[in-house]
Amino acid sequence: MARPVTRRVSIFGATGSIGQNTIDLIARDAEAYDVVALTGASNIEQLAADAIRLNADIAVTANEGRLEELRAALAGSGIEAAAGQGALIEAAQRPVDWVMSAIVGAAGLQPGICALEQGATLALANKESLVCAGELILRTAKQNGARLLPVDSEHSAVFQALVGEDMNAVERIIITASGGAFRDWPLDDLANATLDQASSHPNWDMGQRITIDSASMFNKALELIETREYFGVSPAQIEVLVHPESMIHAMVGFRDGALMAHVGPPDMRHAIGYALHWPDRRALPVERLDLAAIGALTFRPPDEKRWPALRLAREVMERRGLAGAVFNAAKETALDGFIAGHLRFPQMAEVVDQVLNSLDPSHIDAQMTLDNVMNADHMARQAATRAIEQTTG
Ligand code: NAD
Ligand code: MG
Repeated sequence: MARPVTRRVSIFGATGSIGQNTIDLIARDAEAYDVVALTGASNIEQLAADAIRLNADIAVTANEGRLEELRAALAGSGIEAAAGQGALIEAAQRPVDWVMSAIVGAAGLQPGICALEQGATLALANKESLVCAGELILRTAKQNGARLLPVDSEHSAVFQALVGEDMNAVERIIITASGGAFRDWPLDDLANATLDQASSHPNWDMGQRITIDSASMFNKALELIETREYFGVSPAQIEVLVHPESMIHAMVGFRDGALMAHVGPPDMRHAIGYALHWPDRRALPVERLDLAAIGALTFRPPDEKRWPALRLAREVMERRGLAGAVFNAAKETALDGFIAGHLRFPQMAEVVDQVLNSLDPSHIDAQMTLDNVMNADHMARQAATRAIEQTTG
């Protein structure tokens, strides 16, 4: 039997929910991987422990001020410690075969681009990259012969449903949404939703930011844009369906009327594992569904009054250009505002709406270069900060 090839891998955002699930899979078969870089931000202890456990070459914290702490935690291991944005980019430039992009927010964009520039396969959990700069990401991948694999559960599901299919036969793509924490709340109560209530998801165990984004449907809004960018379908072909059980992750509808649904337990290790082993399908430690015990799966249309983020995403998809970068940055700033207690839950969408409609069109219509994306991001964050200040008086 041929000896299995050791694959060089890096994990950006290793200390987060996706990063930890990725490490779980890699650690089960540690011999098969040569871990190059692990990155994190404030959780130094976890970062150092995982770097030691996986014998990484380098551990990087995005947080410049935490370098000494990281060095101390790695003392005697022979593992390099580094900190700050420059170090993150340098680590992302180190040659590898496969990268998990799991930093949260637009901060994941640049490291992901670096990985694509060196021709690595990029497993993309960081959906914000595609929302901010879809065309740039796809172009960079193409120019460097790099492969981009979706890790978001819905997009992994669509990707899997498309294996062996002709894109011309695709009529529609349906991505499902659990509805998040406030799916069944009376609309009038949303203004009083607390941070704790918004931070608990009925089905998925995820980072706090994406969990709140699930309650507001900003997560699904980002995913609509991600679907458009990744699969190249028109906005009219993409639908959102509320499916409270989170068992069907997406469906692809074909021109002969067939719907291919991807069914599985809400466990991100499936989508991560699929991207890790693609094009193979290997055994994964996820629950096997007992559909007879589950009994029924239910569906309902999304309510745009409850979730205005979905309407905003449609505007962004029509607008194209750098509208996605503006949308995402305004959303990230509004989310910071909610977490800090400056905004009420429904005010996040109001702020994003205001920013989208107040920015100078020249920022949105500029060419899609990394500089212009970052500029649009910066302008949108400033505009959102002003909008939040006005809201709070
Ligand atoms: P998380 O908050 O649990 O982890 C985020 C990671 O990014 C951590 O390692 C953190 O240290 C790092 N980080 C945070 N800010 C940073 C910065 N400014 N610079 C560099 N690193 C930074 O988030 P998560 O839930 O794991 O999500 C990660 C990404 O995956 C997000 O884009 C999210 O939308 C996407 N995603 C997550 C899930 C999920 O189940 N958690 C599902 C689908 C997609
Ligand atoms: Mg998702």
